Amino acid sequence: YDQAGHAVLPTVYERTTAAAISHEAVNLGQGFPDQEGPQWLLDAAAAAITEPHTGPPNQYAPGMGLPVLREAIAEDMLRRQGVSLDPDTSIMATTGATEGIAATILAFATAGSQVLCFEPHYDSYGACAALAGAELVGVPLTAGDFRPDLDAFAAAISDRTSLVLLNTPHNPTGTVFTAAELEQIVELAHRHGARIMCDEVYEQLILDPEQQHRSILSIPGASDIAVAVSSAGKSFSVTGWKVGWVMGAPALINQVRGVKQFLSFSSGPAFQWAVAQGLRDDQGYLSALRSELAEARNHLSTALDEAGLRPNSPGAGYFLLADISELTDLDDAAFCDLLAAQVGVAAIPVSALIIADQIPRNHRLRRLVRFAFCKDRHSISEAAQRLQQRL
Ligand code: PMP
Ligand code: GLN
Repeated sequence: YDQAGHAVLPTVYERTTAAAISHEAVNLGQGFPDQEGPQWLLDAAAAAITEPHTGPPNQYAPGMGLPVLREAIAEDMLRRQGVSLDPDTSIMATTGATEGIAATILAFATAGSQVLCFEPHYDSYGACAALAGAELVGVPLTAGDFRPDLDAFAAAISDRTSLVLLNTPHNPTGTVFTAAELEQIVELAHRHGARIMCDEVYEQLILDPEQQHRSILSIPGASDIAVAVSSAGKSFSVTGWKVGWVMGAPALINQVRGVKQFLSFSSGPAFQWAVAQGLRDDQGYLSALRSELAEARNHLSTALDEAGLRPNSPGAGYFLLADISELTDLDDAAFCDLLAAQVGVAAIPVSALIIADQIPRNHRLRRLVRFAFCKDRHSISEAAQRLQQRL
């Protein structure tokens, strides 16, 4: 479903990947790494299929997820965020963050209510709000620096708002919400009786030392209304494993579990076991990954700038946004078609990540293109060269 509730298949990510393959373009569209995760983690997953570590390795896992994974997540949240979570009642494993998002929205967004998000937003939010019979309403991030506009947010939230969807670090802008911004949002959600879901899948990918990720669960007053969603896909470059989780107060997790049990019932145990090993000891992987991502971001940013596409300066995540208005009068989608077919670089138009009927035709958010830099050196160099020579 698109944000207006119309069925659209496949998603912009899959369409862009298909276009990249057919044009032999460098795929900077769909956000997945083209390098494998660390070998020791892959070995741990392979071994987990044949060795019964914590129960039958190839049969249903407990609905809440393997205890070893939930314990590892609880330790990690305490260490990095100072948040204490009971692994038995406050953490539930899901099939990727995608299922955690779906189960949370279906649990908390009541039919006929309003769900609020910042624009642009991750595409599954609109689809799940539509499935819940709720209306997704967007508040654009500010022009230029993509911060949450809290006055506009305060004007948009009302007693009709059942759920606020946050995403920090943010896809596609790379914005990391500050504690002060999160505190104000929590305060407003309390005032209007709304719940909060915070999508934190890029939590480990802070690329600039001056940025600090704050989980919504570390914000005072959030614990009775907010859940956080995360995933191992980005942290360990294993997006295909689809190991995600939802965290929060037991009463909230219980409600989300009530939905998850009828979406997938339970999620595969072997990858959960391997992710638990990675969370307990990443063997230096995460800091190496952050350096590689920062290097790729800088390289691609220079190339975009030299090609006349004005990139933003994301402090986290996988993506750069480029403003195309100096270079072309085309809209972002037409420009992406041209870029894939004639320049040989595939990217995502931001107009696919907004609520189409709420954002006017010539709005600044329709003049932005998203480039994924979570790609190996060769892909980034090749894309940089094509942009500089062919655009
Ligand atoms: N939320 C955001 C903001 C994402 O970018 C993605 C995709 N990487 C997801 C959720 C989905 O995560 P997963 O692959 O774990 O389902
Ligand atoms: N999260 C990835 C992105 O934003 C893609 C996920 C997907 O293909 N659904 O590009």
